Amino acid sequence: MQGIDERLIKVILENSQEGVLLLDRRGNILKVNQSFSLMSGYRAKEMLGRNIRRFTTAESNAEFIDDAIEGLWQDGFWQGEITQKKKNNESLHVFLRLSAVLPARGSIRFFVVQITEVADQLNEQELAPRDKLTTDPVTGLPTKGLLLDRIQQAISQAERQHHSVGVLYLGLDGARVNMINSSLGRDKGDLFLKEVTVRLKKCLRTSDSVARISATTFGLMLADVSDGVGAVRNAGVVARKIYESLSEPIMLGEREIDVTAHMGMTLYPQDGAHADELIKNAETALAFARKKGLNNYQFFSTEMTETARKRFELEGNLRLAIDRKELCLYYQPQVCLETGKVIGAEGLIRWIHPELGMISPGEFIPIAEETGLIVPIGSWVLKTACYQLAEWQKKGLPPIRMGVNISAMQFKRNDLAKQVKELLDETGIDPSMLDLEITESAIISDVQKTVETLNQISDLGVKLSIDDFGTGYSSLSQLRQFPFKTLKIDRSFIRDITSNSNAAAIVSAIIAMAHSLNQTVIVEGLETEDQLTIMRELHANEIQGFLFSAAVPADQLTKMLQDNKKL
Ligand code: C2E
Ligand code: MG
Ligand code: MG
Repeated sequence: MQGIDERLIKVILENSQEGVLLLDRRGNILKVNQSFSLMSGYRAKEMLGRNIRRFTTAESNAEFIDDAIEGLWQDGFWQGEITQKKKNNESLHVFLRLSAVLPARGSIRFFVVQITEVADQLNEQELAPRDKLTTDPVTGLPTKGLLLDRIQQAISQAERQHHSVGVLYLGLDGARVNMINSSLGRDKGDLFLKEVTVRLKKCLRTSDSVARISATTFGLMLADVSDGVGAVRNAGVVARKIYESLSEPIMLGEREIDVTAHMGMTLYPQDGAHADELIKNAETALAFARKKGLNNYQFFSTEMTETARKRFELEGNLRLAIDRKELCLYYQPQVCLETGKVIGAEGLIRWIHPELGMISPGEFIPIAEETGLIVPIGSWVLKTACYQLAEWQKKGLPPIRMGVNISAMQFKRNDLAKQVKELLDETGIDPSMLDLEITESAIISDVQKTVETLNQISDLGVKLSIDDFGTGYSSLSQLRQFPFKTLKIDRSFIRDITSNSNAAAIVSAIIAMAHSLNQTVIVEGLETEDQLTIMRELHANEIQGFLFSAAVPADQLTKMLQDNKKL
């Protein structure tokens, strides 16, 4: 290898999209790059040191070899098309360029062989006049021109309705698609793209669009993604959904192919006023995401990137939090105003992150709700709370009620009542000591379904509470149709109660109405003695707040119960 800079060769080989072979004067293979390995199916190890003739198919290429050798000796150069066999015996139709490397004086030292797959070239040619097509023949998707129109239409509508439009560019790993085309055949390559299309479509709503922009790039338009920070969050949720849908490998015959993709996102109006600008910036963001590594998504605007990145990271970690046992349940005592005794506790989730420390549910429960992670997390909470209650009962401590927060999504699934029933059977706890807390907004989204589920749970003997009352839009009369035993007044009313006479009047009215419906009233967020005095005057039944205790780990609550701590 004297006379040739080794490093230079390495750089050329590694960066070449073409297959490259370096041969000595007798045709023995000295170097081979990855592109050629992918194309031919032979690993570098199988080729190094072997003669090139072993990898040429003699019958069809006898002529080529003679022709090439002659050309090389005469001109130092030869090029032409040949058909070879891949390792798996499939045909590989390639365009070859052979160059002889000569030292300043003397005879040939090396040959450089550059190989381009002809099928790939055809592919590009087919794609070349795409701008004139409105539909991509492989996936049936619209092409870029149509997507531009649709983005422009969505922008006009967004302008009127004051919401955002998202443009998302998704780039598949080109080398992988090429590898599929060359090693499994074009049919399989097309199948791969079709499957990606199906999965992308599933992540979108009917008002959204997806188009095939180039061989391996797809463009998606999200017609309505609310506005401002909400838009960043919503676009992030869609990106996450897409990753999830692509994270399952695609089956091509017997082969399982992992999908790797990057995404770049832009939002109207902040990242561009017109469709072209949004697309251009989405391309930039995509390029940036590629640079950052596999499976990455990137917002165009840098200040938003930080927020999106944090959220994305939190979300990724949250997925693992259950398995890593980073979640735990704290318990905040609820005290009876008449006796001063602890008569209940609300289970409140905490995430103890190994690096970030304790993360409050206010920060991660909304993410869990948007991503659906709340379902497994909620099940974990319910189970943990029931087992803890069973433990307290076994210890012979004064019986207390256990409050568990339930999110809307847990209701929408059909199995909540079944899950509760199973846990009651498993743990043997008294059903009337379990108290599920539901917020107003969770009920209102699907009244009929919720009434059904709530009645099933109530029939098991389990108590139901309405949480954060006063923050939603429901009225007590509306809530009458639900089997609630307890009403928890939101702490925002209590905060203002000593300074704002309206707040006191509202709380007074809520308590009176709840009592007329035979409901117990728990006041949340009680922090001061003054607030306590007012709550006694207004005849609230129970209080929960920092005045008595914040939420504490199970063993600390055990101690409170053992010591018979009182208000
Ligand atoms: P929430 O159910 O209304 O819970 C009461 C919240 O008020 C708790 O916040 C509690 O620590 C806080 N709090 C209690 N007393 C005081 C007080 O005197 N002053 C102040 N400033 N705050 C007080 P936390 O633990 O941060 O929980 C926030 C919300 O997160 C909960 O509101 C609930 O909606 C949700 N959450 C917590 N755990 C779970 C869970 O396991 N599942 C679900 N779905 N949501 C949960
Ligand atoms: Mg609650
Ligand atoms: Mg509450």
